[in-house]
Amino acid sequence: MDQLIKKGIRQLGLGFLDLLAPNTCVVCQKPAGRQNAYPLCAECKANLLGKSYASLSGFSFCKLCGKALISEQELCLRCRKSIYCFDSIKPLFRYDGEIRDVILVYKMGSRRSLAAFLAGLVHEEWLRNFDGRPLLPIPPRPKKLKRKGWDQVEDMSRILEKKYKVPVLRILKRFDGTEQKALGYEARQSNIKGKFYLRSNMQIPENPVLFDDVFTTGATLSECARVLKAASALKVDAICLAAD
Ligand SMILES: [Zn+2]
Ligand SMILES: [Zn+2]
Repeated sequence: MDQLIKKGIRQLGLGFLDLLAPNTCVVCQKPAGRQNAYPLCAECKANLLGKSYASLSGFSFCKLCGKALISEQELCLRCRKSIYCFDSIKPLFRYDGEIRDVILVYKMGSRRSLAAFLAGLVHEEWLRNFDGRPLLPIPPRPKKLKRKGWDQVEDMSRILEKKYKVPVLRILKRFDGTEQKALGYEARQSNIKGKFYLRSNMQIPENPVLFDDVFTTGATLSECARVLKAASALKVDAICLAAD
């Protein structure tokens, strides 16, 4: 296929399977309708949006990671046990239910058009909490990017930048290493140490906002914040799609 068309498809954040797939909802598998640019039916979309942290009322939230608290006060259990280098995280959702389905299908790459939907939600969160501050996507491991051919955080970042005019700074770089997913909490902390560095030709922003898909132990975001603060950043917050 012509390189230009390939490039165009990549820039639009579309995968081939996405173009060929029937327009079924990725959550309930029923027809999603052609009115949406992404495969999510109106009902599942409404259910999903109703569970976003921004739309929940009657809850208090962890001051550090933004998770809804059940019986804890101020900080969730995970944050009470951890020392993070970032100042706060705003997850859009708890990693569960419809959003978990959407993120999993999106990351597998068969429905890359979901990036448009997810980027729209990230944009709203950025406006609510971090308007004007530069967004720093967490880069994937180089080997993973090579194998997969695209990166889910980068696809969303491109839309945030082009469509929503969010300032995106690709200042963080990553060395290869063992995949975090396979490791437990302690191992993740030591595995990620020293795996990030900053592009030398870019100015360090004072108050960057890290951007990642799923927050699990916080080790990756904390290490990125540490590197940025060591280099002169003053306040480092983060947005992620979901926290488990
Ligand atoms: Zn559905
Ligand atoms: Zn927390």
